[in-house]
Amino acid sequence: MPLVSSKEMFQKAYLGHYAIGAFNANNMEIIQGIVGAAQKEASPIILQVSNETRQYSNPAYLTKLIEAAVNTTDVAICLHLDHGANYEICKDCVDSGYTSVMIDGSNLAFEENITLTRRVVCYAHDHGVVVEGELGRLAGKKDDISISNQDATMTDPEQAAEFVERTGVDSLAIAIGTKHGPYKFEDTPRLDFDRLKKITALLPGFPLVLHGASSVPTEFVEMCNQYGGAIKRAQGVPEDMLRDAAKLGVCKINFETDLNLVMTACIRQFFVENPEQFDPRAYLGPGRAAIMAMAAHKMREVLGCSHK
Ligand SMILES: [Zn+2]
Repeated sequence: MPLVSSKEMFQKAYLGHYAIGAFNANNMEIIQGIVGAAQKEASPIILQVSNETRQYSNPAYLTKLIEAAVNTTDVAICLHLDHGANYEICKDCVDSGYTSVMIDGSNLAFEENITLTRRVVCYAHDHGVVVEGELGRLAGKKDDISISNQDATMTDPEQAAEFVERTGVDSLAIAIGTKHGPYKFEDTPRLDFDRLKKITALLPGFPLVLHGASSVPTEFVEMCNQYGGAIKRAQGVPEDMLRDAAKLGVCKINFETDLNLVMTACIRQFFVENPEQFDPRAYLGPGRAAIMAMAAHKMREVLGCSHK
C-alpha cells in the first residue's frame, strides 16, 4: 500500500472515538519496531519525523527506510513532518513525498501564526498534502527547543475556532496540559478536559492533536535507573486520560519519549548483563523488540486503533 494522508484515518477515528498513534521515526530499528507493531495490530499509523531527525539521518536515508516499511507491510502509513519550523522545511517535505506536514507557528503572535500556517496550507493542499497547525504553547523540551512552564500557554477555544477557519488546516495541535519530555507533572497529573470540551464544541467533527503525550511508565524509568541511568522525578500522562481524550475529538496522539525510554532501558540492561558483548546488533535487536511491544501496547490498550 502506498503512503496515505491522515484525512481518512482521522475521519474514521473521530466517528469511532479512538485515536491514531503518531510515533517518531528516529532510526531504522525504531521504524521497524513501530511498523512491526502496526502490522501485528492491523492498525493504521503515522510515522513522524522532526527536522532534527532529518538532519541526523540525512533525509534521503530516512525516505528509503520508510519506503521499505511501506513496501513490506499492508497497513496504512502516513508520513508526517513533526514540528516544521518554517515554510521552507514544510515545502521541502511536501516536495519529497510526505503526505502530511506540521507547521509549528505556536511561538508566533496569533496573526503571524495564521499568516504562516495559511501559506503552508495553500502550498500543501495544492499538492494533495494535509497540514497540522499548532495553537497554544507546550512546556518541556523537544529536540533543541525548550519552553519553561512560565512561557507555556493553554489553547484558547475561541481562538482555536478562528484559527482553523482562517488557515484551512486539517488538524490542530492544542495545549491542554501535556508537555514534551519525561518531566511532565510535578505533582498529580492533570489535563484541562473542560478546555478540550469547549474546543471540541466549537469545532465539531474537527480532528485535534495531542503532543507530549507519553505516559513515561515507572517500570521503564526504574529499569533505566537500575542499570546506571539517572532519570529522576519523571512523570507522564496517565493512559486513562489519553483514552478519555480520544473520545473527545483527539484523533492523533504523539509518542516519542516512551519509545526512547523503553529502548534505552532495554539497551542499558543488556550492557550491564552482557559486558563481554560489543556487537551493535546484539543490543539494537532487543531494543527494536521493546519498541514493537510498546507501540503495540499503545495501539491496543490506549489508542483503540487496533484492527481499524
Ligand atoms: Zn510535539
